[in-house]
Amino acid sequence: MNTESDAVNTLAADSQLVRKHLAAVNLSAQMDAEQIADYKARIKVLLKEKDAVLVAHYYTDALLQELAEESGGFISDSLEMARFGRDAKETTLVVAGVRFMGETASILSPDKTVLMPTLEATCSLDLACPIDDFAAFCDAHPDREVVVYANTSAAVKARADWVVTSSIAVDVVEHLAAQGKKIIWAPDKHLGSYIQKRSGADMLLWDGACIVHEEFKAKGLLDLRAVHPDAAILAHPESPAAVLDIADVVGSTTQIINAAVNLPNESFIVATDKGIFYKLQQLAPNKRFYIAPTAGNDATCRSCAHCPWMAMNSLDRLYQSLLSGSNRVSVDRELAKRAMIPLQRMLDFSAQHKLRVAGKA
Ligand code: SF4
Repeated sequence: MNTESDAVNTLAADSQLVRKHLAAVNLSAQMDAEQIADYKARIKVLLKEKDAVLVAHYYTDALLQELAEESGGFISDSLEMARFGRDAKETTLVVAGVRFMGETASILSPDKTVLMPTLEATCSLDLACPIDDFAAFCDAHPDREVVVYANTSAAVKARADWVVTSSIAVDVVEHLAAQGKKIIWAPDKHLGSYIQKRSGADMLLWDGACIVHEEFKAKGLLDLRAVHPDAAILAHPESPAAVLDIADVVGSTTQIINAAVNLPNESFIVATDKGIFYKLQQLAPNKRFYIAPTAGNDATCRSCAHCPWMAMNSLDRLYQSLLSGSNRVSVDRELAKRAMIPLQRMLDFSAQHKLRVAGKA
């Protein structure tokens, strides 16, 4: 298992790499309205020509989310993206998100072509859980059920007994604990602690974290709420425990969106990636949303509430991928079959228990 300092060094190095990369290649940030309109029009034509549909994650650029909706595609969390893709009539799925999302889409739709604007967009949780280390850890604890988060590679999923999203994780672990099972949980330690607290299960936690959610600060949240005393705090469970302890609602992206729409509050402080604001503002146009404080751009902030890997998805890269058929996701068939088993287990569990499996990633 990685040591904490290894993980921190890896994350810092990855974050720097991504920032350098973004500074060099993120062209859509420099586009004017005319260029954006031109790209969007050309992409819509290509989607039709290639029998393709665009599925975008809530954390991607608002332009991509808008384009997904305008072109008959879909915006959601990773699993709902994959399920939409599986049920779509189109033969090509264009997945705007990070690599494991493309992999999950490919696992659920083995006969479809899956393209991504970039294959370089990864995730700190996926990075922190390499299959060799993880498999050795599981092998050292053969008496434990292996439950992994959707934010993992296909190889890690294939090693697991269960794959879960954030909205179903507590139910699955409670179900396993009721059968007297002990759990290995990976990779997000904050989400793992939250599940452990809620379920009371015996859990061994892997030491991964999301670089976006880990940076939200309880003190900053309380200071912001002092300025907006009527605002409800909505937090994703990948945030640290001190943040979750003061949140009014802890939930997946879909649960956060539902809470914002359904709660009577007129304002909200939101502790998740700010890409979600596109959907929040669309569904609750008369409400006000504030980004939960991080350390700030000039301090130690690595993500500043926006995932650097999600930000690698841009209009121009999407266009190039669709035009040339590049950035095709491929998951080894045998691996995909094995990864499908714990994924299917979750889908069956949710159907039996009438639970939505929508979750952040
Ligand atoms: S927001 Fe966090 S969990 Fe989601 S892709 Fe980025 S690093 Fe991974």
